[in-house]
Amino acid sequence: MSEQLKILSVYLKSKYFTKFQNRRKLEKWQDKKMKSFLREIVPKSPFYQKYYEGMSYENWRELPIIDKSMMMEDFDDFNTVGIKKEEAFQVAYMAEDTRDFSPNIGDITIGLSSGTSGNRGIFLVSPKERIKWAGNILAKCLPEVIWKEQRIAFFLRANSNLYDTVHKGKIQFQFFDLLDVLDRHVERLNIYKPDILVGPPSMLLLLVEKIKEGKLHIDPKKVISVAEVLDPLDEKVLENIFEQKIHQVYQCTEGFLATTCEQGTLHLNEDLLVIQKEYLDEDLGKFIPIISDFSRTSQPIIRYRLNDILTEKKIPCPCGSPFTALEQIEGRSDDLFYFQKKERDEYIPVFPDFIRRVIIVSSERIKQYTVSQLQVNLIEVFIEADDEYKKMIEQNIETNFKMLCDKLDCSMPRIRYANTMDRKHGKKLRRIQRKFEIY
Ligand SMILES: [Zn+2]
Repeated sequence: MSEQLKILSVYLKSKYFTKFQNRRKLEKWQDKKMKSFLREIVPKSPFYQKYYEGMSYENWRELPIIDKSMMMEDFDDFNTVGIKKEEAFQVAYMAEDTRDFSPNIGDITIGLSSGTSGNRGIFLVSPKERIKWAGNILAKCLPEVIWKEQRIAFFLRANSNLYDTVHKGKIQFQFFDLLDVLDRHVERLNIYKPDILVGPPSMLLLLVEKIKEGKLHIDPKKVISVAEVLDPLDEKVLENIFEQKIHQVYQCTEGFLATTCEQGTLHLNEDLLVIQKEYLDEDLGKFIPIISDFSRTSQPIIRYRLNDILTEKKIPCPCGSPFTALEQIEGRSDDLFYFQKKERDEYIPVFPDFIRRVIIVSSERIKQYTVSQLQVNLIEVFIEADDEYKKMIEQNIETNFKMLCDKLDCSMPRIRYANTMDRKHGKKLRRIQRKFEIY
């Protein structure tokens, strides 16, 4: 079977034949999937074999947890395709330097995940996994059926031959390198006229500026935000200019985790992976996802703790999907702020969402912002707004921070204002960031 037909078959299966009437049936199906996956894959990975020694797969929901650092440390024993860490890093770095995006060892694609230096991960994808990914992402994201002509413009930090996989038949796909200059993007987009525009919100916002200036003329049917947290402030701007709901794909190198339904609600892709919840605050529905991907065999992701905070929706989505609905992707768990309890030597975590709200409710005149916690008692805020409103906005921000601290019974940190936005070209935009280690 050609690659194209294989993708089509995954697409059809995902779009039309994997349906669950209710949550109970979904979980039963996942249980069966996980058990047979474990039986098949664990014997192929020396790491897991040792890690699970003497344990039963019946209770797979309680198997010990892994994370990125464990996976990277035991990389050679972890993967099932015999690739060595050193060799994989060499191939991946070389590809990134030369911006040639087809690094392979044998038929395995090598991917490099973003992260601070020293904390970067290597990800392996086999041809079979690549086809599955492509079929699933097309099934979940294309606004039209696959046999209708559709042009996708995809803004990314680095291309990968993973994405070439979706460039098939009627589906056209163009990669836009985030490191290229903006005018070049505008030129290309004006010619290409994409039906589907996919990119990090910070890039989509730059395009919005060009549309407002009358330089960019595009009319996409669907706009999908990826790779960064979609801030409510930015979402509103994007919705206004594109006159539609902004969709989201929550995908990381570890898996294709969530997509928005036709209602615009993010749902976890529980037909592709099991996502367990480690609650940080159950009343608020905030949790860290522990993922098990039963379609991933070359580098098995089992009970893998991500570094993200998600918020579940309290009320079910009207679309009726049995998949968990999310209120939002909040950010990374290492971007939790920490405030000091009043008159006590104790720090409490403060959700990025609380910080975001302090800023957003301060004024409708805020065009851009970033907030960094530099020390427990020092916060740096950057605000972009017209000069005449700045004083008023700053006062409101201080009042709102004070209210938040009082509510949490914490001491108020000092707030200082920055004149420029703290961001490097081509890097992910994180509006809420913690810049010191708490432990
Ligand atoms: Zn829905």
